Amino acid sequence: MATSSAFHGASLELRNLTLAYGPIEVLRNVSLNIAPGTTTCIIGPSGSGKSTLLRGINRLHEPKSGDVLLAGRSVLKDKPDALRLRIGMVFQHFNLFPDHSALENVALAPWKVKGRSKAEAMIIASQRLAEVGLAQRANHRPRDLSGGQQQRVAIARALAMEPEVMLFDEATSALDPELVKGVLTLMADLCQRGMTMVVVTHEMGFARRVADQVVFMDEGEIVEAGTPEQMFERPQSARLQRFLSEVL
Ligand code: ADP
Ligand code: MG
Repeated sequence: MATSSAFHGASLELRNLTLAYGPIEVLRNVSLNIAPGTTTCIIGPSGSGKSTLLRGINRLHEPKSGDVLLAGRSVLKDKPDALRLRIGMVFQHFNLFPDHSALENVALAPWKVKGRSKAEAMIIASQRLAEVGLAQRANHRPRDLSGGQQQRVAIARALAMEPEVMLFDEATSALDPELVKGVLTLMADLCQRGMTMVVVTHEMGFARRVADQVVFMDEGEIVEAGTPEQMFERPQSARLQRFLSEVL
């Protein structure tokens, strides 16, 4: 993989964040501090509010109450569109444009959204693709790439916007098992280079190895948070102990 410049990830702080679907609060009073350039893994059972938490950070879902501070400033002060330039998000399903090459998929946002010239956007895109190990696949359409390669294009596309924070929602859950490792290795590389990352994952090995902080959610709340060692070797709450006994 081509090596590459350092990132300057921003800090992120959640203050008593509450999110609801209609009358039902699915995230209650969540507070969390994320230092610049660190990786936070969010674990927990299905339906515990992990995706909702990520959606609250970049305002895909407006909070009912509470606040999110990006680099010390409330995200509620900016337009959601402006915020999404600063926070990259990678989903389980990559949602690449099927009729565009890998290179074009990565170049489109810097060109159309960020207002770079097309030539500049193409240069940025080829650098990002090289960084995710896909320089040789630049002209392939998504359907001619493996799922793991498509997900790496999606990560390159998010990075092309020069985000300050990257959010990952089960980025490897839809991949065949043999393709998972390449994507996790890339994510660990971004972490090493100083990106601020919030990673919802079922990959406990990744959380244990890469995370600076592990957060366990259940029923819309943070039940327990700590270092990987604290969380995996000495879980305190009965709920985390039970969850780990089911997934490990
Ligand atoms: P997780 O990602 O941990 O599986 P989610 O954040 O997706 O959990 O969901 C948290 C809760 O919110 C669940 O009870 C889920 O059923 C509910 N929920 C998620 N999306 C919606 C929606 N669009 N409308 C109503 N309820 C939802
Ligand atoms: Mg989810």
